Amino acid sequence: MTHVLLDADDRRFQAEVQDFMARELAPRAGAIEREDDWEAVKAVARLLGEAGWLRLMFPDLYRGWLAKPGLTHATLLSEEAARVSYAFETTIATALSCAVPLYRHALPAVRERFLEAIVAGRAVGAICVTEPDAGSDTARLATRISRDGAGGWVVDGLKRYISNASVADVYIVYGVSDPAAAPGRGLSAVVVPAGTQGLSFPRRYSFMGRRGCVVGEVALEGCRVPADHMLGEPGQGQRIMAGMFNFERVILGGSGLGVARDAFEIARRHAQTRVAFGEPLGRKQLIWSQIAEMSWRIDAAELLTYRAAKQYDAGLAGKALAKPAAMAKLVATETAVYCADRTVQILGGDGITREFGKAEQLYRDARALPIVGGTSEMARYLIASADLPDIKPNL
Ligand SMILES: Cc1cc2nc3c(=O)[nH]c(=O)nc-3n(C[C@H](O)[C@H](O)[C@H](O)COP(=O)(O)OP(=O)(O)OC[C@H]3O[C@@H](n4cnc5c(N)ncnc54)[C@H](O)[C@@H]3O)c2cc1C
Repeated sequence: MTHVLLDADDRRFQAEVQDFMARELAPRAGAIEREDDWEAVKAVARLLGEAGWLRLMFPDLYRGWLAKPGLTHATLLSEEAARVSYAFETTIATALSCAVPLYRHALPAVRERFLEAIVAGRAVGAICVTEPDAGSDTARLATRISRDGAGGWVVDGLKRYISNASVADVYIVYGVSDPAAAPGRGLSAVVVPAGTQGLSFPRRYSFMGRRGCVVGEVALEGCRVPADHMLGEPGQGQRIMAGMFNFERVILGGSGLGVARDAFEIARRHAQTRVAFGEPLGRKQLIWSQIAEMSWRIDAAELLTYRAAKQYDAGLAGKALAKPAAMAKLVATETAVYCADRTVQILGGDGITREFGKAEQLYRDARALPIVGGTSEMARYLIASADLPDIKPNL
């Protein structure tokens, strides 16, 4: 089929990634799910780094055959990984959410020390935004980043729902550096290496899905870091965060698509092979219509996701990218939930049974997608804000 958004190089890259995932990730996916095996996740992330694919968004660091590597390829990577294991795929989104701010905003020594290790797959990063009283409302962050009197910074606060808490080598922490500024202003982002005194991990969460991922609390009590660990200038945290969320939402579009396609294939196979009332299930109109419903939603998600990725690669940024990125994230992640749910229904008892394949796992995994990286409600807010620029929404 001709693809209107992906060119021949994109498709060739996609096929290469599919081979890699079949070879390296698929054999480990069972252990990741059954044994909650973070070490297996980490091993594949390392191979991904060695393949050079965590450098896709940094043309001057990239060494492969793609003439114009970019977010399109990072999104393809995300989609193909999520198709095999969404839990594993989360390491790609997190690695890039650390790598991009380091690439764009870190001073040379800090960039060299942390960025190279992350994109080579040797080090694991974590992004620390969310707090007990500041989830969607990132303007309410309570973490403080203050001058320490010796020219450096001291960080105090509690972060929650942090992917890779306790297993990361480097933490990018957002907090308030100017308490006198209006809410949402006066934010900064600093790099806190693992092992910093005062850094601890009070809790690890156990979720309904995404087994294999480590997500927990990060406590920072008087954590001191040198002056050059500040990303950009003090007070630029809001801008750095917005830039990070813009591309992360496109990557999440890829995650949603991967999960949706995985579910759809299971449903499609079942509709063709399961016989009920003397004929294949797929001949029943009620099933036929659900297959069609999944199919168009997946196509819509694909078009929105790769449109946003291509726009980013063409230079669209900031507020102009917020709406297409939010649309990609919203539609693809809601499509993943829809397809996982319908697949369970089409499979009947097999759909909710661990013994009969992956449908029940997809159902549990998919549910995180409309929450992480900004909820579906926040995505709608971003979309409508672009359409109603003169009206300030009552959040
Ligand atoms: C598995 C997992 C991994 C995560 N990884 C990370 C990570 O690595 N780093 C990080 O910083 N965070 C991470 N998060 C946190 C995630 O970004 C937040 O959970 C998310 O932003 C929502 O925040 P909250 O959970 O506090 O919900 P809340 O903000 O409390 O929202 C609760 C509900 O209310 C809705 N809501 C809130 N405000 C409004 C409004 N004004 N109008 C309408 N509806 C509203 C929300 O959409 C949501 O449905 C992770 C979360 C999960 C579950």
